[in-house]
Amino acid sequence: ALGKHDYDVVVIGCGVGGHGAALHAVEQGLKTAVVEGHDIGGTCVNRGCVPSKALLAAAGRVRELKNEMHLKSLGISVEGVAYDRQAIADHASNLAGTIQGNLQRSLEGLGVDILRGSARFMGGNRMRYALPGRVDVGGEITARDFIIATGSVPFVPPGIPIDGKTVFTSDHALKLEWLPDWVAIIGSGYIGLEFADVYTALGSEVTFVEAMDKIMPGFDGEIAKVAKRLLIDPRSIDSHTGVLATKVTPGVPGVKPVEIELTDFHTKEKVDTLEVDACLVATGRAPYTQGLNLGAVNVETDRRGFIPVSPKMEVLDREGSVVPHVYCIGDANGKFMLAHAASAQGISAVENICGRPHQLNHLSVPAACFTHPEISFVGMTQEAAEEKAKAEGFKVGLAKTSFKANSKALAEKEADGMAKIIYRMDTLEILGVHIIGLHAADLIHEASNALAMGNTVDQLKFNVHTHPTLSEVLDELFKQCKTDVKANA
Ligand code: FAD
Repeated sequence: ALGKHDYDVVVIGCGVGGHGAALHAVEQGLKTAVVEGHDIGGTCVNRGCVPSKALLAAAGRVRELKNEMHLKSLGISVEGVAYDRQAIADHASNLAGTIQGNLQRSLEGLGVDILRGSARFMGGNRMRYALPGRVDVGGEITARDFIIATGSVPFVPPGIPIDGKTVFTSDHALKLEWLPDWVAIIGSGYIGLEFADVYTALGSEVTFVEAMDKIMPGFDGEIAKVAKRLLIDPRSIDSHTGVLATKVTPGVPGVKPVEIELTDFHTKEKVDTLEVDACLVATGRAPYTQGLNLGAVNVETDRRGFIPVSPKMEVLDREGSVVPHVYCIGDANGKFMLAHAASAQGISAVENICGRPHQLNHLSVPAACFTHPEISFVGMTQEAAEEKAKAEGFKVGLAKTSFKANSKALAEKEADGMAKIIYRMDTLEILGVHIIGLHAADLIHEASNALAMGNTVDQLKFNVHTHPTLSEVLDELFKQCKTDVKANA
């Protein structure tokens, strides 16, 4: 029932999160609008997941064709591998255009109004939207419920001036305007790792600069070690760990190098200066809430700029109380900064708007890094699980398997990699699953579904998998678990 408002639901921002929320809202019979100030599809489609996977697709093929030894062992020989940087870049940007069109048609097809402009809260249930310099676009609307889905932008630490040419973020790097001979990547999270894969496949040298004492600090420690052996060392990537890039001076391509001053993370003493052709700053993402005028709805961002939310995605005010009729999903709330989490949160918010209480179980949300080979995980790292076990007094169960035990991986000659599962010995609950190896990003879903459904490891042992497939990696993993609870005690 619409009542006195123009819309039941207005979604602010049409990234993947906003798109998912708007579709689910209109499917529930709610009169829905989505307001977008820039490009439909947001970060994921235009400056994130989609173009980066297009570059990685090319990188993977080049890498495979260049690996003659590997192909020879399959009986194939290839002479002279050539690639066209511009054509690779064009594929990435054209792909974004295609998906933008798909998203727009799906919204319009179901009757979601797409309002072009930047949204601003005006107090009460009012919101204004406008495009700078365009008097013909914009207006004021009212809605019963708002969903903020304004996403994020690259986070750039102080002392690093971005010139977009020699010192840049993923926003620029995805355009692949040039291939520097030597690139320093600040930050060894998944964005840095994916770009390292692209650059090294296309012939650039890569050096990581990482503030923590080891590279890939966010990953399970054992998986990070395997990743070092499979995709860092063989590509001659070197790493400076435990150091901060405190000052970066842009260069001139082919003329003057970029200078990166490194400071010891612990002692704060200057330790080194790197000279490289280019510097990619991949130090994380910052929430984007500019211009929303959050004060008008009694909302304040937290210390890092995220909008605080309840488990039901309801926005919380300074006192931690729910702000009625305002929800926030996706990167802007910082709960789980990935595309599929944003849209899942969007669906969850709409369920709550419809009066069907829903909370997304973030522990069952999978994540992947699309390097060659891929890395994926769901739930906790072994380190986090052991900490929890110590605090709560239970034993951690651990099972592992290698891709070398998998017939399909052997047939493909892609048998590097492993999978591990971490579970509670007493209840047999799954705490986390981690995979590094061929198609790890696809394989993780059996584990994430099991976590979402609350399956215990003993239940999974009897699932049947097609032979020979990579899915048998998980079959083997589940079979390795010790499921005799009495013996486990
Ligand atoms: P966004 O996609 O950022 O969308 C927010 C939208 O809101 C934007 O379109 C913006 O213009 C609009 N907006 C902002 N303010 C206003 C306003 N006031 N009024 C109107 N509109 C506004 N995630 C994955 O899951 N898998 C991947 O492989 C992956 N790869 C990535 C690779 C890179 C290089 C990067 C940078 C990110 C990647 N991500 C990936 C992360 C993913 O892109 C984000 O988690 C996801 O885009 C977040 O979605 P969102 O809807 O919250 O925000």
